Amino acid sequence: MAIQTVNPYTNKVERTFDEMTEKTVDLLITQSAKAFTSWKETSYEERAQILHKVAALMREKKEHLASLITSEMGKLIAQSEGEILLSAAIFDYYATNAKTFLADKPLEPENGSAYIKSSPIGVILGVEPWNFPFYQVARFAAPNLMVGNTVLVKHASMVPQCAVAIEELFNEAGAPNGIYTNLFISGKRASALVSDKRIKGVSLTGSEAAGASIAAEAGRYLKKSVLELGGSDAFIILEDADIDKTVEWAVVGRINNNGQSCVASKRFIAVEAIADEFIEKFKEKLSNLVVGDPMDSKTELGPMSSEEAAVTIIDQIRRSVDAGATILLGGTRADMPGAFVQPTILTDLKPEIPAYYEELFGPVASFYRVKDEETAIILANDSDFGLGCSIFTKDIKRGEKIANQIDAGMVFINHPTWTQADLPFGGTKGSGYGRELSELGIQEFVNKKLIRVS
Ligand code: NDP
Repeated sequence: MAIQTVNPYTNKVERTFDEMTEKTVDLLITQSAKAFTSWKETSYEERAQILHKVAALMREKKEHLASLITSEMGKLIAQSEGEILLSAAIFDYYATNAKTFLADKPLEPENGSAYIKSSPIGVILGVEPWNFPFYQVARFAAPNLMVGNTVLVKHASMVPQCAVAIEELFNEAGAPNGIYTNLFISGKRASALVSDKRIKGVSLTGSEAAGASIAAEAGRYLKKSVLELGGSDAFIILEDADIDKTVEWAVVGRINNNGQSCVASKRFIAVEAIADEFIEKFKEKLSNLVVGDPMDSKTELGPMSSEEAAVTIIDQIRRSVDAGATILLGGTRADMPGAFVQPTILTDLKPEIPAYYEELFGPVASFYRVKDEETAIILANDSDFGLGCSIFTKDIKRGEKIANQIDAGMVFINHPTWTQADLPFGGTKGSGYGRELSELGIQEFVNKKLIRVS
């Protein structure tokens, strides 16, 4: 994949970057490993100072950074600005809390005394996706840098300007050379890097194929890995839900980020009693969305991230319809240049139809009508993924009881699955393993060293 910006609103190539040679990458890994020897000796306060500065610079340059996101992957400009603020909040969160999260933990053994000391482990490789170009990097880099690890970031090839901008923020913040390094290399080369002795762990957010490739290498070379892969979140609507509010959230849950979020609500499961009312209102709202230029603040649905992404999802729709699915809305490309796909609703889905099990990474909702709560839970769990799920009901106790029966890493009651610095993020099954964000996210690439005093 060429390392270049192709604006999905116009499908025009705007900038191209050279891939790094083996020699350059080797030098950069050496530099990162060298930086680790001094970075691990710094105090939490020194590390926090750099991270707070990165956060402040992000806020200061919010408009410019947001425009890079929008031009590289088509996110609506207001959402791009929101992403910059969320990323800054993640840097501040870890800068403020890491010392507490990583403090020595006293143990109470039968005799003598002991405690657990959290120590950094070295250079960590992060392989990051294009869908949230700043946020995904923030949730990997901020905790690891506060631990005292150094990071190499192989960003998605289609967001190179974002990748460069993040590295520049670190330089401007006065970060020591080598603690944060951008690598312009292909995905395949990223997998091959895992074998490098200087790299001690790897974290990937992206597709199952890329995750499997990284995990295989990590397994072969006995290195710790964290994987955050796709999702096909269920959005369960019970008969006692506040329908108008639920419909509002259903639209946000499905089309935020132009439908390209791992935790987007993808499978809408309504119990019979309210199914008609829900689907009529949901369909109406989706059909009225303003589709167009992501830089225009009036636009409600922008292009997909690339022409290839648009072609892929149209193919999923076509294969599903050929296998018996019904289109309730949309189903085609929007009539304008760029990587646009109409807001779409598919129904009459069964396990043999592609859209039943495949992740729909775009503005395409699947709609299921079920007889009761129990059937809704069975259907929600009938997925190869286990990232998030949301349940809409006025009865919170009932929602919590259902949440206990859902096989996913995150369950939200009366809200689509969402993210913030102090809530853990991650999944089960095909959605990967490990957690990012919150206290859990900082404990992944840490040596929990036992110190025993007799
Ligand atoms: P990829 O998984 O291909 O890309 C994510 C990152 O992995 C990129 O940096 C990519 O590099 C890298 N990569 C690709 N192949 C390998 C490999 N063999 N070894 C190591 N790294 C690799 O996602 P796509 O952009 O192709 O999107 C395809 C699908 O992935 C989506 O439809 C969606 O289902 C899922 N996805 C999920 C995301 C999430 O948030 N969980 C985010 C993005 C995608 P490069 O860009 O150079 O190929």
